[in-house]
Formats: sequence, C-alpha cells, structure tokens
Amino acid sequence: MSATPESFEPRTDPLTGLSDRRTFLTILRRDAIRTMTSGGLLAVLVVNVDQFRRINSVFGFNVGDKTLIRVGRMLKELARRNDLVARIGSDEFALLLPGVMNEGHAVLAASKIERQLQAPLEIEGERVPVSVTIGIALCPTHSSHAESLLKHAELALLKARRAGLGYVVAEPVKTFEIADTWDLEIELESAVENEELELYYQPQISVSDGRITGAEALMRWNSPSRGLLRPGVFIPVAERTGRIQGLTQWALNTALRQARECRERTGHDFHVAVNMPANAFQNPQLIELVKGAMKLWDAPGGQLVLEVTESLAMADPESVFGIMKRLREAGALISIDDFGTGYSSLSYFRDIPADELKIDKIFVKRMTESEADASLISVMVELAHRFDITVVAEGVETEEALTRLAEMDCDRAQGRLMARPMPFDTFCEWVGAGAADWRAAAKVPIPPEPGRDDEP
Ligand code: C2E
Ligand code: CA
Ligand code: CA
Repeated sequence: MSATPESFEPRTDPLTGLSDRRTFLTILRRDAIRTMTSGGLLAVLVVNVDQFRRINSVFGFNVGDKTLIRVGRMLKELARRNDLVARIGSDEFALLLPGVMNEGHAVLAASKIERQLQAPLEIEGERVPVSVTIGIALCPTHSSHAESLLKHAELALLKARRAGLGYVVAEPVKTFEIADTWDLEIELESAVENEELELYYQPQISVSDGRITGAEALMRWNSPSRGLLRPGVFIPVAERTGRIQGLTQWALNTALRQARECRERTGHDFHVAVNMPANAFQNPQLIELVKGAMKLWDAPGGQLVLEVTESLAMADPESVFGIMKRLREAGALISIDDFGTGYSSLSYFRDIPADELKIDKIFVKRMTESEADASLISVMVELAHRFDITVVAEGVETEEALTRLAEMDCDRAQGRLMARPMPFDTFCEWVGAGAADWRAAAKVPIPPEPGRDDEP
C-alpha cells in the first residue's frame, strides 16, 4: 500500500507476525497525508478482544497466545490486499483501510469482523469463547493526524464496550473540528478578502554571534466571531476545503511585501520563511506563484525560505524533490521542517535538494534532559553540515539549550527564549533594536497572544 521510504523498517509483533503499533502509526501518518492531498477517505478500526485476561486465566497463557495468533490471522484473511493489519496492544489490533467509499463501507467491514469472531475458537482441544469490540474513525472526517485518528477510534471502542455494542463509529468532532467546522469553512471563505488574516513573525538568530538572521511567518486569523485563531485550528480546515491555496498565495505575497517594508524601515536584510501546507506540491501553479510573488516584491534571491515538513517530503520523495529543485532554481531556499519526526533515511541527505534543516522542537525540548536526544541533535548537525545544509533548532526555550546548541555548532535558533511570534510592527521594532545582537531587542515588549501563554 504505502510506498515507504527506503529507510523505514517495518517492525513486526513477534507473536502474531503482524505490524506493531509504531509501524502502524508510521504508515497511517503517510496514508493520512496522501488522503489529504488526493482526496478520499481512510478508515481506522481498532479491534479489542473482549475479556482477554479472562481467557488467559481460565485457559492459560499458551491458549491465550494462540487465541491472539488466530484472531490476527482471521483479521488478515478478512482484510483486502491493500489493508494493513497490526497488533497495537496486548489484546488490541488495528486495521487501516485506505480508499473506503464512505462511512458505511467501514461499518460493513466492522460488522463482518464482529460476525466472524462470534463463534468459539477450537484451540488445543478447548472451545475458547472469543468476541471482539470495534471502534471506527475516519480520515479526514474525525482527524487528519495519525495519533488523533487512533485516539478517536479508541474512544469509540470504549463507548461501544460501555454500551455493549459490537462496534461504534467515532463521534462527530466537537468545538473547532466538525460541528463547528462548517461555520469555520464558510467564514474562512471570505477571510482573505476581508483582510482578517495576519502574519506574525518569530525571529531566528545566528547561534554563534546573536545576529537576527531571519524570521518565520506564522499565520493568524482575526476571526470576527471567534477572536485571534491559531493555525492549528484553521489550516487543517483550509487544507480540506481547498482554501489553503489562496491562503498560501496570500502568505507568500504578504511575507515578501512586509520583508521589503521592514528592510526599508530598518536597513537590515533577513530571510523570511513561509510554511507550505501538506498539499502544496499538488498545486501545479506553485512554482509560478512563488516566482510571481518574488518578482512582484522584488525579493532578492535567497530571501524567501519555503518550509516543507519532513513527512511531506518523504511521503513521495521522487516528485517532491523534483518540485523542490525547481523552486530553488527560481531563487527560493528550501527548509525541511519538523526534522526528525518523519523517519527519513540517512541516504536522503545525499539527494535532498534542501538548504536548511529545522530540528523539531520535541528534540530541542528534550535535549537538556536527555543525553541521548542531545547526541541525536549533534549527529543531525554534523551530518547536515557535511552536505552543506544549514541547521536551525526550533522551540529553543532556555539559555542552557542555546549554550548546548552553540557547542554543537548548530547554525541558528528560534524559540521563546529569544522571542514569541509577534505582529509585524513589533517585529520591525525588534529588528531595528537587535539586528546585530538579539539581546538588545529584548527590551521591545511583545504583546501577549490571547490563549497562548499557558501553552506547553
Ligand atoms: P511550525 O511550522 O512547527 O511552527 C512553529 C510553532 O512553534 C509555532 O506555532 C510557534 O508559535 C511555536 N513556537 C514558537 N516558539 C516556541 C517555543 O519556544 N516552544 C514551543 N513549544 N513552541 C514554540 P503556531 O504559530 O501555532 O503554528 C503552528 C503550526 O501551524 C506551524 O508549526 C505550521 O505547521 C502551521 N502554520 C503556521 N503558519 C502557517 C502558514 O502560513 N501556512 C501553513 N500552511 N501552515 C502554517
Ligand atoms: Ca514551520
Ligand atoms: Ca516546525
């Protein structure tokens, strides 16, 4: 099913020979991105063996183990060729069904499994009563993120078990997801036109000398009915409805226009990084769009950085690498965002047409607590440098982390230690005050962002 990058080593559960939880999540992550970019529906079924502990205590562990093997085998037989069957917990299995037509299709699969597993199994001369309970979740209906999809399916399973039902489909998602999404979709339609979108900027500094080298542009939506919204709320909706292309075009143009304005105001030049959405590379006009924006705002070559997540790059390296090359030829720089979370292989370093690598904040956060994570960062830096790739650490929150990064020869840093994301005018003041040394800009007050200060 999933053309997985060469580095990805599927791991199996030794008892059943099925994929394990981690492998399941890796493949689900990739297939969810594919579903989001190419449309369609994907189903996740979590299948729990009822009262498995009781089977173990009544019939013994040997029969217990054989029961799991048999259930795994039956699931595999029921699955279509392209479905993935995994064992994700001691008595829990999961199925990934790509390309389902609708919710009914997933329900049909669940009821088939439930029926097949109703009769007692003959194991070692014993009649073992086996039954299962199933939770179902769909991408993108319930979520487009692997972990959250699995969680939705697991919650549905819990609900089914409490209600004594064989299977249950996850609840329509509350608040900002489904119930509310419809209004959100409609409001989002006119957000660009009504000038409700805004770019916040978070500075990036040079670790060795403290200069401000650039900024990442992070989108905010001043929704008239809901206040200032974070991208996590509306970007997934925009991706699903196709609005994202308009938003990306707006972000590219706004970032370059404001970079020029800031340069004129302060006399300082810097990179501006714009995030690419999961389906950016499906847009045949992307290259023209980038070229057009750079020309319109007279952007010097190398000023615009396009941030592409590692998982997007690795979902389809062949075609994505080709587009990246063309974007670089057009004068943009390519940065691999959230690096370290997408399981790419070392051999990609040789081929990846990137200028910059952004180490995911998870590693940076753990760096000062765990030597293993610190070594990991150190290796990433060394490797990137061998291929002439600049390294940015994101999510830098402490002086200690910044010092360690300097020791590791990491090129740049971004994070709350230096500054939270801020509105454009504040950012210009920041650059004015601290272009040569960010610490001099620390006196510029950054307005608090509603609802964000308590964030982890
Ligand atoms: P990202 O690209 O990983 O962006 C970094 C996120 O980390 C930002 O969240 C930023 O506010 C947050 N952050 C900054 N400093 C720290 C820190 O010291 N510690 C921690 N833990 N976090 C920090 P934000 O602004 O909510 O953006 C979330 C995500 O939304 C971004 O993640 C990016 O994937 C997406 N996004 C933002 N702007 C755009 C956009 O214009 N277009 C698209 N397609 N996606 C965007
Ligand atoms: Ca980013
Ligand atoms: Ca990131």
